[in-house]
Amino acid sequence: MEFKDLGLSEGILKAVEEIGYKEPTPIQAQAIPAIQMCRDVLGLAQTGTGKTAAFTIPMIDALAGGRAKARMPRSLILSPTRELAAQISENFVKYGKYHSQLSMALIVGGTSMDEQVRNLERGVDVLIATPGRLLDLFERGKILLADIKILVIDEADRMMDMGFIPDLEKIVSLLPPMRQTLFFSATMPGPIKKLADKYLSNPKTITVSPPSSTSANVEQYLVNVTHPRAKTATFIKLYEQEDVKNAFVFCNRKRDIDEVCRFIKSRHISCAALHGDMEQDERTAALNKFKAAEVQVLVCSDVAARGLDIQGMSHVFNWDVPFNSEDYVHRIGRTGRAGAKGRAFTMVLPSDEKALGNIHKLIGKKIDVLETAGATPTEAPVPAPSVQQKARHHNRDQKQNHRHRRAPEDLDDQVDVNNGSFGNDIPSFLQKK
Ligand code: ADP
Ligand code: MG
Repeated sequence: MEFKDLGLSEGILKAVEEIGYKEPTPIQAQAIPAIQMCRDVLGLAQTGTGKTAAFTIPMIDALAGGRAKARMPRSLILSPTRELAAQISENFVKYGKYHSQLSMALIVGGTSMDEQVRNLERGVDVLIATPGRLLDLFERGKILLADIKILVIDEADRMMDMGFIPDLEKIVSLLPPMRQTLFFSATMPGPIKKLADKYLSNPKTITVSPPSSTSANVEQYLVNVTHPRAKTATFIKLYEQEDVKNAFVFCNRKRDIDEVCRFIKSRHISCAALHGDMEQDERTAALNKFKAAEVQVLVCSDVAARGLDIQGMSHVFNWDVPFNSEDYVHRIGRTGRAGAKGRAFTMVLPSDEKALGNIHKLIGKKIDVLETAGATPTEAPVPAPSVQQKARHHNRDQKQNHRHRRAPEDLDDQVDVNNGSFGNDIPSFLQKK
């Protein structure tokens, strides 16, 4: 199958050729015709297999066929994180290079509303949004959703998760019932799939590989550690053993990220942090530095686990075993994308047995344990935050508590809560009021 067999416009064919795509990926080959036939689609395919183009390309052609620069947006793409929304909008521009009559607005929180409002007032065809800001602007009367003909929910299972569902329900209730709805993800837990059926009408379900399977391009290993304090030394040992070009290091708790990042820096590895307690301009700066290879490591929360596509990422390290098994699939899926190879290492404590068992069940196989030479690493504790750093955390938390939001704006606003990781051991300066 070639792109030209898919009945796409000349503009799309030219754009994908210039980008260098030789042929459609399996999810593209199957989803594009279904979308062209105006079917609702539930598209499930592994991480890094081109799901974005699978929905964006036929959308561009469909919108180009209608009246461009309409007063009201005609399509809406929802994403669980701001960074992913921004990335989808970049893809939209890339694939739509020869459809310059189509306009788009990126509607995400943490950035100025004024510019987004000005953009909306000029008239846009496509909204690419995180739920919180979209609803904010709707409630201020700045967005009309009554003409949305196509709704795409990327990372759909995440978007139907507890934290997001009230916002999602609200948004869907504002859309016309006669529309095309497209859901995409690499994972779709059973109960959430049931929920998806509520939003989809007679959908074509496309399952390219077993749902929640991990990409064969990612070599995965577990590394047993006996105590949390042994993680620092184990990580450094692994890092030195591996030929790391660049890597994401995932932590379960936002509060650990800055400390792990400080520790990694102390070992002369360039490093930045990315999590939802940072201001959006800091988040964007950290990700940009990583993309520009100015830092080699990004220590992040699950806000970076979904959708981000960074070419040539060589490694993913899980500082912690994720609480949700699906997060494992998405975290390690940041490497081994678009046919490239990647390696993923997960540090495992004895207390992680249950979570690990759930991951094995989900991905349908057992991950190999890496037997490191000369095993037991010496314990090197993570440096404790200084008084100033503690004060900064406190101020940041106070600010967060006064933001008066009804619901989380993007994924990281709820991660710790959803994961139930707020135990009794939370330092008081981190406790939510
Ligand atoms: P997913 O959403 O499935 O995780 P993305 O849409 O982010 O994957 O795409 C992953 C990578 O694959 C991107 O870098 C994208 O440019 C690339 N890609 C998409 N479609 C093709 C194709 N047909 N041929 C080659 N590379 C592709
Ligand atoms: Mg994606």
